[in-house]
Amino acid sequence: MVRPLILVSNDDGILAPGLTVMVDALAELGDIIVCAPEAERSGSGHAISFHTHLRAHELRSGWWHVSGTPVDCVYFALLHLCPRRPDLVCSGINAGFNLGSDVFYSGTVGAAAEGYMRGVSALAVSGERGAEGPLHAAPVAHAVAAALLEAPTPLLLNLNVPAPPAGGLGPRELVVTRLGQRKYRDGVQPRTDPMGRPYYWIGGPPEQGSTDREHDTGAVAAGLCSLTPLHLDLTAPDLQPAHALLDRVRIKVPEGSP
Ligand code: MN
Repeated sequence: MVRPLILVSNDDGILAPGLTVMVDALAELGDIIVCAPEAERSGSGHAISFHTHLRAHELRSGWWHVSGTPVDCVYFALLHLCPRRPDLVCSGINAGFNLGSDVFYSGTVGAAAEGYMRGVSALAVSGERGAEGPLHAAPVAHAVAAALLEAPTPLLLNLNVPAPPAGGLGPRELVVTRLGQRKYRDGVQPRTDPMGRPYYWIGGPPEQGSTDREHDTGAVAAGLCSLTPLHLDLTAPDLQPAHALLDRVRIKVPEGSP
């Protein structure tokens, strides 16, 4: 029997500890090809580099790094590296959670979404920041990936695994959630470089949100492992407000235009 083929990528780069932890966690489930950015590309979202060339190198057998975004890596691997269509794309294990609106910014989710857009089941995995984060997430990622390999239709799943409760070695609780409201202490910090020129940092640390367990933000805050099924059709479920707007839209064509 042919072993499943699993493509692994991330947005923290080929050297990120979470990538190795992911590969170790999945190795028992199938043959693995790694294709990850050569440097950290967190916050790349679904960016693709179609306006410039890519360089790709095989670091060691089956481990490739690419001079592009996480989406570039999955695109390149699916269309060029993989000897057959993979059965699963796994992205991570990211250093830090990807919750709520993070999914729009996250390269971890972007890489998984690229696999799913191309018809392959995909799993984005994120854990706590720090050395322990990926280790806590690994057994949960393994269990979800194993189930996903058996799924009758492709799915796109966003998994976030918090540290277990203090001293906890017991079973982890996994819940299905919706995307919640991710809150950050947003702001723009103006600074000055050694040459006296201004520069800026945008963004800030996350803030504690609700602990409502229906949503990924709340579930993770409550110490639960959160599994959110995503879909890529951004169309609003209710078209009526746009229809109402359309009734008030008057397009004026300038005289003399073709
Ligand atoms: Mn990252």
